[in-house]
Amino acid sequence: MEKVEVLRQYFGFSSFREGQQTLIDAVLAGRDVLGVMPTGGGKSLCYELPALLLPGLTLVISPLISLMKDQVMALQNAGIPAGCIHSAMSVEELREAYRDTRFGAYKILYIAPERLLTDGFCALAQELEISLLAVDEAHCISQWGQDFRPSYLKILDFLQKLPRRPALAAFTATATAQVRSDIVRILQLQDPVTVVTGFDRPNLRFEVLRPQDKRRALLELLEERRDKSGIVYCATRKGVEQICELLQSRGFAASRYHAGLSPDERRQNQEDYICDRCTVMVATNAFGMGIDKSNVSYVIHCNMPKSVEAYYQEAGRAGRDGAPADCILLFSPGDITTAKYLILNQTENDELTDEERQTVQAQDLIRLEQMTGYCKTTGCLRGYLLDYFGQPHAPRCENCGNCQAEYDLQDLTREAQMILSCVVRVRETLGYYVGKTLIVQTLRGSRDRRLLQLGLDRLSTYGLMRKLSAEKVLAMIDRLEEAGYLRTNAQHFTLEPTAAANGVLFGGEKVAMPVHLEPAAQSGEKKRRRKSAAASAPTTGTDDLFAALKAERTRLAAAEGVPAYVVFSNATLADMAAKAPRTMEDFLEVSGVGEIKAARYGEAFLKAIAAYEEADET
Ligand code: ADP
Ligand code: MG
Repeated sequence: MEKVEVLRQYFGFSSFREGQQTLIDAVLAGRDVLGVMPTGGGKSLCYELPALLLPGLTLVISPLISLMKDQVMALQNAGIPAGCIHSAMSVEELREAYRDTRFGAYKILYIAPERLLTDGFCALAQELEISLLAVDEAHCISQWGQDFRPSYLKILDFLQKLPRRPALAAFTATATAQVRSDIVRILQLQDPVTVVTGFDRPNLRFEVLRPQDKRRALLELLEERRDKSGIVYCATRKGVEQICELLQSRGFAASRYHAGLSPDERRQNQEDYICDRCTVMVATNAFGMGIDKSNVSYVIHCNMPKSVEAYYQEAGRAGRDGAPADCILLFSPGDITTAKYLILNQTENDELTDEERQTVQAQDLIRLEQMTGYCKTTGCLRGYLLDYFGQPHAPRCENCGNCQAEYDLQDLTREAQMILSCVVRVRETLGYYVGKTLIVQTLRGSRDRRLLQLGLDRLSTYGLMRKLSAEKVLAMIDRLEEAGYLRTNAQHFTLEPTAAANGVLFGGEKVAMPVHLEPAAQSGEKKRRRKSAAASAPTTGTDDLFAALKAERTRLAAAEGVPAYVVFSNATLADMAAKAPRTMEDFLEVSGVGEIKAARYGEAFLKAIAAYEEADET
């Protein structure tokens, strides 16, 4: 069979997405590949489709066993023979999976990395014809990646035990050059065909807010999105508990997810969310990897995540169906402290040696600094993200909080002089530069013990900005940093003046800074534009049919005991509503409808459509 044929028949798609074809061709030709695509870009297809055309078995290494079950179920439902092996399975289930694998019942086998070297699997692997080894979330193999998992290193030992080396296909959404080269080097990819696709997700609207009261801001945002499905991320388990309770008390169908819950509750809550029985998932970053729910229309972060990679991955769970979606980050300077604490007290990865831990921490702190930059920039947010991933872009996207915000140019020359001269004076007095906190305290005339011990209360700049809040002073320092008058020393986190500072201190240079106008001060039109991207999406005349199709999907999913998206994704239902097919032939034209699924569900949906149109005519 041809690959386009497989694409249509099994996956129900009419065309490939960016990068998929190149990678699939290379895999089919027996080449090693490295695919770098953003979350939601369609990496799975690059190994799932070849698996059906290659002889023998495709092994897929994937880090999160909680997701394997769903992935396998979705494949099976599309008529693709798939299985999985991981440590959360019972002895009985494992035995069955081994037996089926041995008899060639699967084309695709998902396996957790820590199972690779078990005696049972090693022995089994000797007998198998493995054509392809796909490594999903391949950044887990690198210490420089945001999620280093030493168990990924077992892949190498496993490969050495095989009688014949299969082709290797590695996939990740992490694009930093260091991680990429680590993947190639450590996995020993041989002359891999490498594809890096665009990271831009034009349907996502990014925004950073600095609310005085995050809980109130969150409630307001959710109120505008009551009928939508979304994720609210918090930095800590406690945060999740509190926010979830708050939302439930306000009548939101909210559920929660974090590593402190029992596996049963986690599974249940995740399923409730995926099946749309609850609309808001409040979670730590433990939630979401690999979750293929296409109708997430907002992702709100109550705290700043630890890295841009993490943020883009989490925020990227919105709008997978291509519909407009919002990614909103509620920032406060306290988030930096929390994130630092989490980095310095990381316990989740107890596989690491001390030395590895130190490398990882140092790296994490640099990444945190880059994430902080995102929260503080007044430039285009999309541009900031794309810069991070090394991708060229237009100077302004006109579809992010910053591009659409109204700014006033405020003359901050006097304040800038105070801040810069304070930084210089402190250095003159102590012989070294200090961090932001101490500068803010000095300017605000704090009676802090350390400050007094250092004698900073005797400086002429002491107390000059007494009337301003610490937050305001910090914000001005941030602006000065962004404008290039100050910089943070990456090693010591101290605040230092740049050469440009002299112009302000001694050359009469003026400093004007864009000041974000509060929404209340904005014009009516702009305010409306600020409203949710999703809310302002054009409504089509197919909304009711869409709802009817959704109801039909719910019914079928319940009858089969599977999550709704395993039947069809929202993108598929939307296309179905738009095309309103009347015959099986037309039904097969709907994006996401393959032959197996058409045979299984076609009749039910065609009936639902016919019933809808009849009701519409009367
Ligand atoms: P990733 O692993 O890169 O985050 P997935 O492989 O989970 O992304 O794919 C995300 C979504 O895109 C899935 O719902 C998938 O069915 C869909 N998809 C993948 N390839 C195509 C395609 N060629 N046409 C339409 N939809 C696709
Ligand atoms: Mg994936």
